[in-house]
Amino acid sequence: MKTIKKLINSTCANYIDGHCVLLDRECPLISGGEYRGKKIPAKDCSCTYFEENVLPIDKTLEAVYHGQETLSKTCKGCGKGFNSVSNRSVYCGDGCRRSARKKTFIKSNQRRSK
Ligand SMILES: [Zn+2]
Repeated sequence: MKTIKKLINSTCANYIDGHCVLLDRECPLISGGEYRGKKIPAKDCSCTYFEENVLPIDKTLEAVYHGQETLSKTCKGCGKGFNSVSNRSVYCGDGCRRSARKKTFIKSNQRRSK
């Protein structure tokens, strides 16, 4: 399963080797922060750049980040389990959704040509 740390690592443009270029310090979402000499755990930290530019890529992590419930589901495309925030989503990701759409498209085209 993907985690917020992995998402930052692979997607955040300001994250370089554990260091946040934007804040010029360690990434608070990974290393935690400090406020008036008190340590703040990473899960209690927030980052506006991350929330606006990185997090929307992954709806499930977005829900986890905001402490929302996620649903365990089985993908209609590949049969793998995945977590979702939406009741309506039936595919684990864009890949499965796209290939499923393609299949329906071909099917309806065949029907039409007969
Ligand atoms: Zn799938």
